[in-house]
Amino acid sequence: MEKQKLKVAVLGATGSVGQKFIELLQNHPWFELHEVAASERSAGKLYKDAVNWVQSTPLPAKASALTVKECRPVLESRIVFSGLDASVAGEIEQEFAEKGYYVISNSRNHRFDKDVPLLIPEINPDHLELIKSQKYGGAIVTNPNCSTIGLVLALKPLQDKFGIETVNVVTMQALSGAGYPGVSSLDIIDNVIPFIGSEEEKMESEPLKILGKYTGSEIENIDIKISAQCNRVAVIDGHTETVQVKLKNKASIDEIKAVWREFIALPQQYELPSAPANPVHYFEEKNYPQPKLHRNIDKAMAVSVGRLRECPVFDYKFVITSHNTIRGAAGGAILNAELMYKMGYLKNI
Ligand code: NAP
Repeated sequence: MEKQKLKVAVLGATGSVGQKFIELLQNHPWFELHEVAASERSAGKLYKDAVNWVQSTPLPAKASALTVKECRPVLESRIVFSGLDASVAGEIEQEFAEKGYYVISNSRNHRFDKDVPLLIPEINPDHLELIKSQKYGGAIVTNPNCSTIGLVLALKPLQDKFGIETVNVVTMQALSGAGYPGVSSLDIIDNVIPFIGSEEEKMESEPLKILGKYTGSEIENIDIKISAQCNRVAVIDGHTETVQVKLKNKASIDEIKAVWREFIALPQQYELPSAPANPVHYFEEKNYPQPKLHRNIDKAMAVSVGRLRECPVFDYKFVITSHNTIRGAAGGAILNAELMYKMGYLKNI
């Protein structure tokens, strides 16, 4: 598409999400990894010496030779992907945006700022208009929590066609979602941990903004009741969620499967490089989806759905699996940037 690729930086490049950015950006057709940044502990070292690379693909040669910089807004790249720890992300991301950088963030800090889109390109691309009212020279765009993304991708076609009244969701979340080194092995082997700090609150609130309506100046949350219970399980990558929904209008099992199968949106129409061919994959096998088998489906950017059946309490229940550090984090953020570029939101870079 472009002759010259756009230079990008990764903040928090040594972390769990940061490493996924490095992996996914290595052959990106539009973006070129130009700089990496992390904490003072890593700054000044070569990336290969600062990072404990835990991906299954080799550490890309170009990234390996970069010197890790501090997370200060003096970088050459105007597009910065943030995989920063939430304890520091809020302030650092704001400093970058004030200095004219486009910050595409995974962190929770700015998700509920009134002028910041909480973006899933297949669902609410119109929310990007919010950045025009941001007070920054640049902009901040966030992507949702890793469990929220899979859930909302599965709910969106149902909401559009039948309307949703209530959702109950129980998650079984992968270890990579806790960052690196994350949960101690003695805590998680032979165990399930029925608590992930702030996760339930995020899952109950984020979908309301994402599925909300852009009124021309702000987002009006959608009126859906969501109850979430979140658990950490001994899976490396891929969050699994069991979901129950009560719909506003009657729908048959075949109609629900059809709206999932037929669901495509702007990223597919624009053929964005990181877009899955189909955001939702429905499996008929009675014991699917499973994280080990399905987390990498369609570039690890799709949500796998299965076991749709009637529910004696709600209307229907089903199971979903999606890749938490790709669709739920780095891949989702790169797709956000691709959409912004394609729609002309990345200016003067
Ligand atoms: P992580 O593995 O703990 O990585 C954190 C990164 O932040 C590291 O690169 C670390 O650099 C850097 N950092 C820490 N303190 C810093 C400071 N004072 N100044 C500058 N950089 C600092 O965490 P993660 O799992 O990748 O998560 C990163 C963010 O993405 C979090 O906000 C998380 O909530 C969000 N997120 C994670 C997932 C997931 O599946 N893991 C999904 C969605 C969203 P050093 O190595 O130098 O310490």
